[in-house]
Amino acid sequence: MSSADASKSNDSASEAVKPTNFLRQIIESDLDKGTYATRHWGGAPGDAQHHQSGQVDEAKIRTRFPPEPNGYLHVGHAKSICLNFGLARDFGGVCHLRFDDTNPEKEDQEYVDGIIDAVRWLGFDWKDADGHENLYFASNYFDFMYRCAVYLIEQGLAYVDEQSADEMKANRGDFTRPGVNSPFRDRSVAENLQRFADMKDGKLADGAAVLRAKIDMAAPNINLRDPAIYRVRHAEHHNTGNQWCIYPMYTFAHPIEDAYEHITHSICTLEFEDQRPFYDWLLNHLREGGLIDAPQPRQYEFSRLNLTYVITSKRKLKHLVDNQFVTGWDDPRMPTVVGLRRRGYTPESIRNFCERIGVTKDYAWIDYGTLDGCLREDLENKAHRAMVVLDPVKLELSNWAEVFGSAGHLEDCHLPALPHAAEGETVPERRFTLGREVWIEREDFAEVPPKGYKRLFPGNKVRLKGGYVIECTGAEKDADGNVTKVLATVVPDTKSGTPGADSVKVKAAITWVGVADGLQAEVRMYDRLFTDPQPDAGGKDFLSLLNPDSLKVVTAYVEPSLKAAQADDKFQFERFGYFVADRKDHRSDKPVFNKITGLKDSWGK
Ligand code: ATP
Ligand code: MG
Repeated sequence: MSSADASKSNDSASEAVKPTNFLRQIIESDLDKGTYATRHWGGAPGDAQHHQSGQVDEAKIRTRFPPEPNGYLHVGHAKSICLNFGLARDFGGVCHLRFDDTNPEKEDQEYVDGIIDAVRWLGFDWKDADGHENLYFASNYFDFMYRCAVYLIEQGLAYVDEQSADEMKANRGDFTRPGVNSPFRDRSVAENLQRFADMKDGKLADGAAVLRAKIDMAAPNINLRDPAIYRVRHAEHHNTGNQWCIYPMYTFAHPIEDAYEHITHSICTLEFEDQRPFYDWLLNHLREGGLIDAPQPRQYEFSRLNLTYVITSKRKLKHLVDNQFVTGWDDPRMPTVVGLRRRGYTPESIRNFCERIGVTKDYAWIDYGTLDGCLREDLENKAHRAMVVLDPVKLELSNWAEVFGSAGHLEDCHLPALPHAAEGETVPERRFTLGREVWIEREDFAEVPPKGYKRLFPGNKVRLKGGYVIECTGAEKDADGNVTKVLATVVPDTKSGTPGADSVKVKAAITWVGVADGLQAEVRMYDRLFTDPQPDAGGKDFLSLLNPDSLKVVTAYVEPSLKAAQADDKFQFERFGYFVADRKDHRSDKPVFNKITGLKDSWGK
């Protein structure tokens, strides 16, 4: 089944000509100027000495994708992945996969494995030219981070503050008021070293003290008002166990991680713009102190992906999972990478989407239809066509035995599986049979046709697609007036592909599945998870905006070519859209298909 190809990311993730963006321009200019040309690489992350002892770095640039392993990745992360790995690939660099696991709570091996799978599935890897895997855990740098903190204390650039959390908050000031110096701010270096050692040695309770950078309590940028850089937290860490009871704050840890890994361009979302002055303050001091090697990494910000009808916050997505609003992180309605994958999106479609939406600093919402457009584009010439009946009613061809000599006669039919042949190949074919009874869509019959209706009504002729022209003669109904069977006669010598095919003109061809060789299948008709295009913007209660009709399960009949369908194979079900054999529940004797998207964009409607 060639549509299986559509689900494999296989070869490289390289795509055609890239539109430029501000980050590409920055990198091009750095490469022109040779900003990083003489930089050394110690073969693994390390301090200044370690890197200086290495060779000139073969990687022209180093970027990183730094997820916290506290959930599964979502489509917003996919943008960051495509960006960071894509830039490294395009500029002869390397992108590190770094787990930002400096927070002992909420982090889990399950999430680590899930993130590795997701990045691989999207088509990226973290090897450099000599095959070295740049897969790192920030928690392995705790010793170095501690050394950096001690260095700052020794330089009079950090102090242990023992104000209560409330006092600290009150003394921080706000946008209109400067902060107030802590009474602990002018402790001696010796006292600070002692108290920091006490924090480390478990002598202080959670929240009893923090280490703060000593910068300026009156700084207009509140992030520079002596930010906390280490806190006490008596908690077991998934990697370091109980070795530490103090943990670095994100704002302190992240620049150090970048520097330790010799990252050149540290790309993050715009929320971190106000942190950049601290990023630079910290790395400037550590470089001056000889702890990190020059040139130090620089931070650049771009605007995060906001996608209509979608939530991109791990915390909120976890809430949906934990409270069973969805069946799991891989529920096909979830915007997680595992959810998108199970829904049937291909790595190519997601990569193309990320390319298309571009990289800017503007606040914008991207229409979900853009992602679906990329999916259709990818599958248009890959996904085999198939006929299915989603809302079946039986149709009987009452003159079948007369025309073909026996009621059980089956006519072989065929249709192309793809609209165009691939280069050097012939168009693949699907085969199925037409017999006395077929399944048709309930909506394809009308006893009294509405104006302009061209399908089955008494006296009207249509073509059974790929089969014969038939003429409707009426219908059988139950006591409540529901149609139980549509009746028609077959018009002899009108089979598709034969000379007589055009002898009878019809205004419509309808899709159908033979009763004799059709398969029963479960089809999961997915729709948007939320009814509101911006379900969590402006503090909206996203739980009240869940779409009650986001999943409808139907028992359908599908053509026999789908017997060969394997999990993850994608198809175009004629007239309905793109579908995938569910990677979890599909069995050849119990087929399950998920609707990916329709044939046309309906997101705006
Ligand atoms: P969340 O709020 O969902 O937990 P996060 O930013 O806290 O997201 P991390 O695991 O820390 O999650 O993020 C890893 C990387 O992914 C970061 O560099 C972050 O900037 C990026 N990222 C997260 N969400 C988006 C988004 N919507 N668009 C672009 N990049 C994103
Ligand atoms: Mg985070």
